[in-house]
Amino acid sequence: MEKLLKRSEQTTEQFRACLQQLHEEVCLAARAGGRDPACDKIRIMAVTKYVDDQTVCRLLDAGATLIGENREQSLSQKFPLIVRPGVDIHFIGHLQRNKAARVARMVSTVQSLDSLPLAQQLDMCARELEKQLHVYVEVNIGQDPNKTGVDPAAAAEFVDALREYPALRVKGLMTLLPLGLTPLESEKYFSRMNTLYVDIRAKNRDNVEVDTLSMGMSGDFRLAVKHGANLVRLGTVLFV
Ligand SMILES: *Cc1c(COP(=O)(O)O)cnc(C)c1O
Repeated sequence: MEKLLKRSEQTTEQFRACLQQLHEEVCLAARAGGRDPACDKIRIMAVTKYVDDQTVCRLLDAGATLIGENREQSLSQKFPLIVRPGVDIHFIGHLQRNKAARVARMVSTVQSLDSLPLAQQLDMCARELEKQLHVYVEVNIGQDPNKTGVDPAAAAEFVDALREYPALRVKGLMTLLPLGLTPLESEKYFSRMNTLYVDIRAKNRDNVEVDTLSMGMSGDFRLAVKHGANLVRLGTVLFV
């Protein structure tokens, strides 16, 4: 099923202002959480799955440097446009093993690593490509049966098991919250993710250099940043 891609009427200048505004909001949220006010280290990902090619080009011209796509097909279509110097491309959707090779070629990072068979496949692809592929472990922090991701209780052990795959570099944790939470419930889950992140970071392993906590989307990124996110994935708020 092909989703219709939205065309945004925003100009490059408007996107530039929008990115600036979001950056300021992220800084405010970081301060509200009593976090290090060096909010320049918090990355804003532009999730481009909703929009057409021209819109993506204006967004890149406006200075977006981190792009996320959640499907192999739409990533492949946009890839020629977004592969520019200084632009980092991540895969953020559920990844089937038969699509791992194509995705591994196009991205620096797969944020949605949720099984060891997928890790094995990605490791094999990365070796063939002679690259180090960065991965984030997707954690199903709300233990939502409708969502993929590793159970939070098994996450540390899962990270340990990834030592078997030397072409993978474990750089972060990622989560998607269940739908329909109150802000208070969202905060509870973000805070639990942060605890998990701090615990996993505290252990040193060979190919594990966890430095990124990817959580928060358009509706809840301020709360995520308040609780330690240093990468937020934004789609809807960019494309008004
Ligand atoms: C679409 C998507 C986003 C962005 O969602 P918005 O609510 O539009 O900001 C973030 N993360 C993932 C994994 C997505 O698929």
